[in-house]
Amino acid sequence: MHLIRKTKIIATIGPASESRENLLRLITEGTDAARLNFSHGVQADHGRRIKLIRELERKTGKFIGIIADLQGPKMRVGALPKEGVLLRDDTEVVLDTTISEYDGGAIPVPSPIFAKGASKGSRVFLDDGSLLLEIVGVKGLLGRQFVARVLRGGTLYSHKGINVPELKLRTNIFEEKDKSDMAYAIKQKVDYIAVSFVRNGDDMREARKLIGSAPIKLIAKIERPEALANLEDIISESDAIMVARGDLGIETPLWQLPMRQKEIIDKAHRAMKPVIVATQMLESMTKNAIPTRAEVSDVANAVYDSTDAVMLSAESASGKYPVEAVRMMKNILEETEKDVGHVFSNEKEEYHDIKVAVPKSAKYIAEQVDANAILVGTATGSAAQAVSHYRPQVCVIASAANERVARSLSIVWGVTSIVIKNIKSIIDLEKKSLAELKKRDFIKSGDKVVFVSGTRLGDVGKTNALSVVRVS
Ligand code: PEP
Repeated sequence: MHLIRKTKIIATIGPASESRENLLRLITEGTDAARLNFSHGVQADHGRRIKLIRELERKTGKFIGIIADLQGPKMRVGALPKEGVLLRDDTEVVLDTTISEYDGGAIPVPSPIFAKGASKGSRVFLDDGSLLLEIVGVKGLLGRQFVARVLRGGTLYSHKGINVPELKLRTNIFEEKDKSDMAYAIKQKVDYIAVSFVRNGDDMREARKLIGSAPIKLIAKIERPEALANLEDIISESDAIMVARGDLGIETPLWQLPMRQKEIIDKAHRAMKPVIVATQMLESMTKNAIPTRAEVSDVANAVYDSTDAVMLSAESASGKYPVEAVRMMKNILEETEKDVGHVFSNEKEEYHDIKVAVPKSAKYIAEQVDANAILVGTATGSAAQAVSHYRPQVCVIASAANERVARSLSIVWGVTSIVIKNIKSIIDLEKKSLAELKKRDFIKSGDKVVFVSGTRLGDVGKTNALSVVRVS
């Protein structure tokens, strides 16, 4: 069996990577799932990319998960002059929520959330935290203008993001744009929808309601202090979790980010949900052909933390070196995985639940008999996730019921998927899956494969059987 990388790569697709040629190279270099950032571009841009990804998926024979990442209640400054507006340290500036364009005086902050929630003492981070203001007073008849002192100055440009960590979002987080993007993503049959600025389990329950019966999985982006306080509830209501370090690093103290990352990964693992580490992993590769030493260490440390997937944002969406960034990430992952061993300590977990105990045993039996692979028959993907949870060294092959399940596993650690259709029985599933793996040179005659499944076809959620098969 050839070496298969375990940690998955998610690449954000944007202007730098959306051409057929670049997208194909991104996939062949190791991209497992594609993220479409609905904060940028219009729906038709994403629709074009989805069509192309599906076409290249057929061409390469590799299942690519598609993640539609919603903008969420992200606040942005209004239109400013092209050259920006210089905000000097220790001066005062007016933030006006009633205008959408700079009028030579106040900075437009056309956000109802800001107008209703900001107050004296609020810290206002602009442009990913590069600039920092503190509100010192409220102006205007309706209190819709805010006087702020510049604590960390700089030049502010149009439509840059605004973060106010103290600001509690009282309203529903799904505004019209998100609802419309969600409906579009459902129509386009994406595999995951990522929900931004989640506060609690209710936000995820609301997202689930909006999705209705569409077979789409939900990712909760952890990027607000409230989300950290409600982490367990959010995780239990989600299918996967993202450590969204961009906004999380503004909304919580930057120096707490490494331990937050470990805490979120750990809690997601305990719930057997896949987890993604995102943002600025190889940021300098937006401009340079090689990353910094610190960035290489960051990607490697995410592997040591036992993440399921790592994500590229601007590096692959708008940077100068999208293909090189994916290649670099793959090299770091493969090299680090050789060393990991594996560190994750699920060994001591006690499960009396059969559908968990069986996948756990699969890892040990595979080690005992020196198996070449663990094959998991999976109707929803959860049995494959449970096997992955125990981080077996041997390759995990999910024999998925359909393409949607196979694509959803594209962000799960160590799982490679095949789709076998028209199955008559579990024996039939085993036979056809092994034949397919042989055809693909994954296994050969004489190899040993640990086969995990339910005893009856169609018994969803009943993983209760395990056997060791010698490939004929
Ligand atoms: C983040 O904040 O890290 C993130 C992934 O979200 P976005 O890129 O949408 O800001």
